[in-house]
Amino acid sequence: MHELSLATSLIELACEHAAENGASRVTRLRVRLGVLAAVRRALYFCFEPAARGTACEGAVLEIDEVPLSVLCPACDAVKTPSGLYNFRCPTCGTPTPRVVTGREMQLVSVELDIPEAASESPPSAHRSDDSTSARP
Ligand SMILES: [Zn+2]
Repeated sequence: MHELSLATSLIELACEHAAENGASRVTRLRVRLGVLAAVRRALYFCFEPAARGTACEGAVLEIDEVPLSVLCPACDAVKTPSGLYNFRCPTCGTPTPRVVTGREMQLVSVELDIPEAASESPPSAHRSDDSTSARP
């Protein structure tokens, strides 16, 4: 299940970033995901359980989907194929293996909850809608 390891590595990156910046929590992660990565839904599913117990718990996961584009050697231009599994130039029909975008999986930005002067009361009491834990 490489979706889970992807979710885990994104979370690790974000947690490291939080630690470096003295933040206790990550509130939002933004990820660029190419359409060929095809893990979008799975990533949403994996994110929450993978984030549990880390600084990313409860963070919002935003995914920017990156469309497929290829470099056509005949046209010497970046083109968008008509289908995801049709790596041909839409203009001249030349098959092109050179994917320019569509395969990326990249953590773009991380929003952190950095405690300011710690003067306010800690925001720990608003977890009432945690309905994900299944109890018999
Ligand atoms: Zn072409």
